[in-house]
Amino acid sequence: MTGLRLAVIGLGKIARDQHLPTIAALPAVKLAAVADPHVTLAGVPAFASLEELLRNGPPVDAVALCTPPQMRGTQAAIALAAGKHVLLEKPPAATISAIGPLVGVAGAAGLTLFATWHARFAPAVEPARTWLASREIRAVRVIWKEDVRVWHPGQAWIWEAGGFGVFDPGINALSILTRVLPRPFFLTDAELSFPDNRAAPIAARLAFSDAGGLAIEADFDFRQTGEQTWAIEVDTDHGRLTLSAGGARLSHDGQLLIDEKKVAYPLIYRRFVDLIARSESDVDLAPLAHVADAFMLGRRVVVEPFED
Ligand code: NAP
Repeated sequence: MTGLRLAVIGLGKIARDQHLPTIAALPAVKLAAVADPHVTLAGVPAFASLEELLRNGPPVDAVALCTPPQMRGTQAAIALAAGKHVLLEKPPAATISAIGPLVGVAGAAGLTLFATWHARFAPAVEPARTWLASREIRAVRVIWKEDVRVWHPGQAWIWEAGGFGVFDPGINALSILTRVLPRPFFLTDAELSFPDNRAAPIAARLAFSDAGGLAIEADFDFRQTGEQTWAIEVDTDHGRLTLSAGGARLSHDGQLLIDEKKVAYPLIYRRFVDLIARSESDVDLAPLAHVADAFMLGRRVVVEPFED
């Protein structure tokens, strides 16, 4: 095989911004086909759906599912049943039970299922995890505030049930937090603000704790204008560690330690190729479980309608 023959399913913002340029630059991966109901790509066999691609398309070894989350679990099951390795954009699906059993399906078929969390590949995340491993952690604050009109223009699915609303970016913070904190944590309180005309929250305030009583607070907001904030502050017995810019920057007591450009997607695709070579899957549902908990435990507050 001269490279992994990959089909990209869903040619929206993330596929065009990250997946296609990354695939084009990686000799180990070849774009064999695409599927999207409305978008095609010059010079690449294009189909209106995953099902049509599997029926009539060229041979592919793997698919990258870059569709809205509501359909991703079903598409993953279809692709695995057709013998394809599967890379899932985040969140891996709109429900936990859609994905959990697919790990066994992939394993039994010798296929790879990779639930990606792109934020975990940000440059400051692994150094933060290492630094925190030997510290006493005293308090954690997450501030994840962005302007939905800038980052998700016209994405109707994000406001529908299963679209997650502000948890679409908020789950990125949770994917970092579940990676860098040494102990598991759990939700203790949540308030979700739903626009009067939408089925998904525009803001959320969350409180978590762990077996040692650690206080973790998170503030997610889609209504941020001006400066955007994607930050995690951790107070420890050795001062404050701050991850900012979505994990691109790390500072300790105000002193900048890391400030690097994010290069998540080449790392994600290298890991996918490596997992396939080892016949392994990588599916961590912890960030998704925290979001599910927030929808189960959270008080619902109705706020003013949101119009794009
Ligand atoms: P998007 O721009 O709305 O793209 C989704 C694409 O999937 C659209 O072109 C959509 O077509 C297409 N689609 C819908 N139904 C389909 C089907 N049955 N088969 C094939 N394609 C279908 O959304 P996005 O921002 O790229 O986000 C997609 C996923 O990536 C989300 O889970 C998001 O959380 C994640 N993600 C996004 C970003 C980001 O910066 N945007 C970053 C990281 C991860 P129609 O528009 O015609 O329905």
